Amino acid sequence: MKTCVIPLPDEAATLNLGAQLARVCNSALVIYLYGDLGAGKTTFSRGFLQALGHQGNVKSPTYTLVEPYELGSRTLYHFDLYRLADPEELEFMGIRDYFAGDALCLVEWPQRGTGVLPEPDLALTLRYVDAAREAEISAISATGEALLTQFQQGRDPA
Ligand code: ADP
Ligand code: MG
Repeated sequence: MKTCVIPLPDEAATLNLGAQLARVCNSALVIYLYGDLGAGKTTFSRGFLQALGHQGNVKSPTYTLVEPYELGSRTLYHFDLYRLADPEELEFMGIRDYFAGDALCLVEWPQRGTGVLPEPDLALTLRYVDAAREAEISAISATGEALLTQFQQGRDPA
């Protein structure tokens, strides 16, 4: 399984990581976003959404669990499962429909939905490094692996 670690010295670097990954995503995709509160999961999502043309605000949908975005012809669902008490609640909200189409899905706190959420293509873990952050990106599916390769080639044109 392919993995890489990206240093994120400041907020702009986290936004830029989101944007760079968004630019190589051209099909349905599920990205899990792990990390403590304040680690930068929503910041990453904002960079991702803005690169796809979203211009407004991006907040964690902590109370609603999911926020939909229509971006041209594409749909993105931004989940924040922090307040999910029981993965079964996801069944009640019809979680399968969100993942069945060709939408992009970003999921903060995916560990709250274990057993009900589908496997991701990519898993990102954001960590504190003093006042800065780093991201560890792991490819989970073949799609995720191809994407991560493309992402790395874009960052490091050798
Ligand atoms: P989460 O969704 O993981 O709880 P947020 O993205 O809402 O976290 O908040 C992250 C906070 O940390 C924001 O205040 C943001 O400005 C800041 N931040 C984001 N990325 C970095 C970084 N690479 N270095 C330092 N601060 C960052
Ligand atoms: Mg958040």
